[in-house]
Amino acid sequence: MAPADDWVARTAGQVRAEAERRHPGEVPTCASGISPSGPVHLGNLRELMVPHLVADEVRRAGAPCRHILSWDDYDRLRRVPAGFPEGFAEHIGRPLTAVPDPCGEHENWAEHFKEPLRESLARLGVRVTEISQTQMYTSGAYTAQIVTAMRRRADIGVVLARYQTRRGADPDDEPRTGIYYPFRPYCTSCGRDDTTVTAFDDETTEITYTCACGAVEGPTPIAQVAGKLAWKVDWPMRWAYEHVTFEPAGVDHSSPGSSFTVGEALVSEIFGGEMPLHFGYSFVGTTGSAKMSGSRGGAPTPSDALEIFEAPLVRWLYARRRPEQSITLAFDAEVGRVYDEWDALTRRVAEGNADPAARAVFARAAGTSDGPLPVTPRPLPFRTLASIADITAGDQAQILRILRDLTAPDPVVTLDEVRPRLDCAQAWVAGYVAPADRTQVRDQPDSARLAALTGTERDAIELLIKGMAADWSLDGLTTLLYGVPKLQRGLPISAPPDAELKVSQRAWFVLLYQLLIGRDTGPRLPTLLLALGEERVRSLLAPALA
Ligand SMILES: [Zn+2]
Ligand SMILES: [Zn+2]
Repeated sequence: MAPADDWVARTAGQVRAEAERRHPGEVPTCASGISPSGPVHLGNLRELMVPHLVADEVRRAGAPCRHILSWDDYDRLRRVPAGFPEGFAEHIGRPLTAVPDPCGEHENWAEHFKEPLRESLARLGVRVTEISQTQMYTSGAYTAQIVTAMRRRADIGVVLARYQTRRGADPDDEPRTGIYYPFRPYCTSCGRDDTTVTAFDDETTEITYTCACGAVEGPTPIAQVAGKLAWKVDWPMRWAYEHVTFEPAGVDHSSPGSSFTVGEALVSEIFGGEMPLHFGYSFVGTTGSAKMSGSRGGAPTPSDALEIFEAPLVRWLYARRRPEQSITLAFDAEVGRVYDEWDALTRRVAEGNADPAARAVFARAAGTSDGPLPVTPRPLPFRTLASIADITAGDQAQILRILRDLTAPDPVVTLDEVRPRLDCAQAWVAGYVAPADRTQVRDQPDSARLAALTGTERDAIELLIKGMAADWSLDGLTTLLYGVPKLQRGLPISAPPDAELKVSQRAWFVLLYQLLIGRDTGPRLPTLLLALGEERVRSLLAPALA
């Protein structure tokens, strides 16, 4: 790939050059911002993965790079997310860190949603420096910036008015009539931000405000007043404060009148900084993500994805797309195909047959500048593992027996060799395969169907039963199963199939599925036979020969 087409390498180069120009000698900063107001879903993960890939590219080249994760935990609770008790509505308007934890095990509401993301980031190898905006605001770190913004409120109001769009009013935007104040206090009486600033003294920096709860406060020095800057002012203030060199955002932030265009003007005109390098990234969608069981609804989270995908695969799903391309994460039967593609890429890279672009994406998925991510020592095909998990209903001893048969002559010795992929396959079958689609092996032979067998069908079963004892292995069974219709036609077992043979093979497979699992389709037949074991197969089929 030409370097110009490798957005990660290109952006990393720009970040280094731009950081050196703006702040010589300083470690470049890439930034992500996450609001822990509810479950952090897979779409939000792109907000972290895009800067991560760039920051890690800089580190891979041997230079330091800071990736900050700014937790917007001083934002107000806007609404209670679906699935949480209505009672939390009384906290709407309070900072996320001032809302109680919904489960009782965390410090507060924000922390409840930070923790699972933190765990996922650790598993994904995403190294960040966390910054809590609650900590920053309440410690007074931004007091000088807040005073500046308040003194320059008229200038800020002009900028906001310049970019104000008629349609789609932003709830964050203050009314454009009267005096605009970019700072909103959290009321000392009720803790909410249903406040209106009524005066600010540029000399003394004393602020006066009223609250919907009836409180009237001030004049009080603004340094002693809890509150935060309006979002469109807050963001550029932090770009300047943290010397952010690169911060992408969802495409919705990049339209005219958005936080990006307003921020670009404010960061230089008010805060004496420069706009970070940036671009919009597209959306992340999911398919088949509704869990078959389990209480949780809503959009899937990174930890949901990590339950069914090995960590390098999740990285790969994000790394292989350009920012402007949308991403779809499949939780349905496509999961098997995604694993197959990944395994094929892994093989091509190992054999030296991958093109440079694919090799670069693979390297970014498989590890970070901190080292490689854990892999499954024996990465058997996901579909095979899922079939085995399905057929055995998760029985570990049975799984090991089947895997030994499958992997002869170099058999799997312990299940740890196939973990974590086996765990992913089991979680996928349990979570995302509908009960009606799971395999139910017959307890008893299907006497009605067996009684109705044609002579040809009976012959085919006889060929199978006789042949399978001779070579009970994945290869042996595969050859035999496909070969039975050939033998019946007097062809050698290795004969290439023609259209007519394919029709007979299909009919033959349907017959076996019916006799073994009472359906027309199922897991791959060689795997199914191995999973059932020779004795069980014989007990379900042999009555045909009686
Ligand atoms: Zn909690
Ligand atoms: Zn109040």
